[in-house]
Amino acid sequence: MLERGTTYDDTLRRFAWRIPERFNIGTACSDAHADGSGQPALIFEEEAGRVATLSFDDLARASNRFANLLAHHGIGAGERVGILLPQSPQTAIAHLGTYKRGAIALPLFIQFGPEALEHRLGHSGASVLVTDAGNIGKVEAIRNALPNLRKILVVGGAGHPDFEAELAKASDSYTAADTRADDPALIIYTSGTTGKPKGALHAHRVLLGHLPGVQMPQEFFPQPGDLFWTPADWAWIGGLLDVLLPSLYCGVPVLASRARKFDPEAAFALMARHKVRNAFLPPTALKLMRQVRDPRRFGYDMRSIGTGGETLGVDMLDWSRETFGFPVNEFYGQTEANLLVANCAGLYPVKPGSMGRTVPGHRVAVISPEGRELPPGEQGLIAVARPDPVMMLEYWNQPEATAAKFIGDWLVTGDTGARDEEGYFWFQGRDDDIISSGSYRIGPGDIEDCIIRHPAVLMVAVIGVPDPVRTEIVKAFVLPKPGVTPSPALAAEIQAFVRDRLAAYQYPREVEFVTELPLTATGKIMRKELRNREIAKQRGG
Ligand code: ATP
Ligand code: MG
Repeated sequence: MLERGTTYDDTLRRFAWRIPERFNIGTACSDAHADGSGQPALIFEEEAGRVATLSFDDLARASNRFANLLAHHGIGAGERVGILLPQSPQTAIAHLGTYKRGAIALPLFIQFGPEALEHRLGHSGASVLVTDAGNIGKVEAIRNALPNLRKILVVGGAGHPDFEAELAKASDSYTAADTRADDPALIIYTSGTTGKPKGALHAHRVLLGHLPGVQMPQEFFPQPGDLFWTPADWAWIGGLLDVLLPSLYCGVPVLASRARKFDPEAAFALMARHKVRNAFLPPTALKLMRQVRDPRRFGYDMRSIGTGGETLGVDMLDWSRETFGFPVNEFYGQTEANLLVANCAGLYPVKPGSMGRTVPGHRVAVISPEGRELPPGEQGLIAVARPDPVMMLEYWNQPEATAAKFIGDWLVTGDTGARDEEGYFWFQGRDDDIISSGSYRIGPGDIEDCIIRHPAVLMVAVIGVPDPVRTEIVKAFVLPKPGVTPSPALAAEIQAFVRDRLAAYQYPREVEFVTELPLTATGKIMRKELRNREIAKQRGG
């Protein structure tokens, strides 16, 4: 574990993984803290605005009930249990009970439509699904296409076996499966930013692998008085393994919120109302929160904020210092191997624009396409060496994709960047997003980061558009701030703004104003979709 008052180099030297041979996420996140004291595990606002608390004792008993329920329905070790629920006590109960049973949890995002659900439930061959009255309709529509799905439990019933009623019938004592740390525990599908989402199969050890990576951006988490919250849904690795599970593992309560759509004012108010101390706020959320005037009036008192999943941008650091009194800590990882690189302002200075340094325990490098480690300063493929506890076991049922993910013992992230002499990583872009213009290779991030500083700009995406002369030209899709009227003059102003600040070859030759940007369910910009639109436009004349 990381400790305050040491240097980064000392921390690296002293660090050693302690992964036991046997480990079960379900027991570690509930029974381990169920000491009869009633210490809180989950805090949630019920529909009427009433606040309720679930203790670790409650969580241990309820997850035992769920494990018994699975056993009762003949669901054995290794079977997949779909969990299609918002942030709520039932979600945590279903997860922990599934792990205790030795089954495999399949978190599903409530904003998925029938097609997205069919792909994930079908591809993973889930035999159970837990959902609620608001989401069951989408599942009924695809039920016939899911021959493996034997049992559906619904919070609120809605004509199906009721989750709470079934739980109440089951015994609250259960001896958890004696799982090995390397046994499979969950499948998380990637965001699908670049193509069809792939199901990363993770072992129970993945939680232990996340701990140093949570401690860094969350400034030596846990500390007395900590209370963790994220607007990111628990169906994503960022919500589940950067917040919910590590927090429960450490005995720190988590605030559950059900908001369907992210509302920046509501986020400030929620953090203040519940005395939230730690948060994971993705860059898109932070960018929206930046639009709120005088946020300090809400009276929040944060201790640490981590961000990641996309480039944060230099500008946001200054804003976060003003708004929270400390810089947000950007980190980097992916569903397949998460939290590899991070900032920790209490451990070493944050370099604006850098994703941070290697989290202790991982071997992260920049490599050539042949798998050769590159020296500091050279751009290449960001990769992490196996074995590593945060590394997926495989892509579920996709052996070719799994094999293609590795060069020797390097898991290749698909992202390009460089490391400097001091070990700070600098993200250049996803391989597919890198723009080739003339003899230059341009990452969209720097340009987007510059454009967003223009006072008229709310969000921006930069891509390369095929061009007969230059291979590609830089094009910016600009979403203006509310009240701003787009005009050719504004486009020219934005072009000049970039030219004045970055290299001439980086300025966008085309600027298009848009009313929305294509985003993944996690709020990531799908540059690929913008590229495809441009290519289709060119083909159409
Ligand atoms: P898919 O793999 O299905 O195309 P995805 O890569 O967006 O989707 P995730 O695993 O959710 O799925 O996202 C991980 C990716 O997010 C990383 O590979 C990287 O491209 C990007 N990312 C994560 N953290 C950062 C960061 N700090 N800065 C820039 N990009 C980041
Ligand atoms: Mg990916």
